[in-house]
Amino acid sequence: MPWDYLRPLLKPNQTKIVLLVMDGLGGIPMGPVGPTELEYAHTPNMDTLAADGTLGQTIPIAPGITPGSGPAHLALFGYDPLVYTVGRGALAAAGVGLDLRPGDVVARGNFATLDAEGKIVDRRAGRISTEEAAPLVERLAQITLPGVEVTVRPVREYRFVIRLRGEGLSPELEDTDPQQTGVPPKPVIPRRPEAQRTAELLNLWIQRAREVLADHPRANGVLLRGFATDPNLPKFPEMFQLRAAAIAVYPMYKGIARLVGMDVIEFEGERPEDEFAAAARVWDQYDFFYIHIKKTDSKGEDGDFFGKAQVIETVDRALPKLMELKPDVVIITGDHSTPAKWRSHSWHPVPFLIWAPASVRPDSQYRFGETACAQGGLGTFPALQTMPLALAHAGRLKKFGA
Ligand code: ZN
Repeated sequence: MPWDYLRPLLKPNQTKIVLLVMDGLGGIPMGPVGPTELEYAHTPNMDTLAADGTLGQTIPIAPGITPGSGPAHLALFGYDPLVYTVGRGALAAAGVGLDLRPGDVVARGNFATLDAEGKIVDRRAGRISTEEAAPLVERLAQITLPGVEVTVRPVREYRFVIRLRGEGLSPELEDTDPQQTGVPPKPVIPRRPEAQRTAELLNLWIQRAREVLADHPRANGVLLRGFATDPNLPKFPEMFQLRAAAIAVYPMYKGIARLVGMDVIEFEGERPEDEFAAAARVWDQYDFFYIHIKKTDSKGEDGDFFGKAQVIETVDRALPKLMELKPDVVIITGDHSTPAKWRSHSWHPVPFLIWAPASVRPDSQYRFGETACAQGGLGTFPALQTMPLALAHAGRLKKFGA
């Protein structure tokens, strides 16, 4: 288990910690100079927390390394992403509430459109709706394979998850998605000899899937990728002695929270205020609240500078609802940067704000933004150190040594 030096220092307390993650929060100016998305956004509430708290910036994985959201979240949750790896299939499975056991093999699936010769016309089956996909997933769920249990669950739109459970399975398999149209899907190819049988089973499943989907005009084929197994992570609540709740809209983030042992809170709505209301509903039952905002990252990936700034503003407007709950420690940060200028994740450090009135050492920063964070009192530090900082400010750590 990680954090061996920390575990003897943990002490119980009644304090509440909020980790508010705006996905892909960090940005860069669109021109040679100018504000970032966060600096452009009008954020009076976050600025108040910045003035009363301490700023800094985090390195998600290592300097110069552009992270995916999975490893970047693991770092925030206190798992060294260079030690603990989680396959995309495992995230997707956990995200739809599909439990994983050691030995299971899971993968992400797409419906796809194939032509009469079996070549791919559309890798996402015209992005069919969740409603249209549901009966098709039902058909897939009827397919059986010799000697293993097969489970198929819908995700969103054209996406689903498949889990194989049985003896002697291996996730060491190549994706079947060729990432282009005009060619047939690739077969499942084993990377290692021990994955040969799993590959054969999945190829048989794909063949049957094409049979049961044959009459559908768009979703008449499937693509599988991100083969994975249970990452068997140490559990966050045990590691840090915190009852932890996760509040997220998108399945992948629910998935990663579930894999580290947080309770995923179900709620209606998708707006920041809906997420904060969900936190309010379970406030008494937990010590730690991970709240995830997805759309900052989506807008960054779209290259929509102003859209990303607007998402940040919607979070800021809802923030008083969260502060009404009287948390003891509030951290506002991102998992990585997604500059609109780049339309992709980047390796840049991530703005970090910690507000904890009982233990604050103020710096001279009063606005939440990249420039201020680069000059903040916490300096630049690994995202992996977020949890010890949170615990210390929450009065949940004893002295180290005499
Ligand atoms: Zn992310």
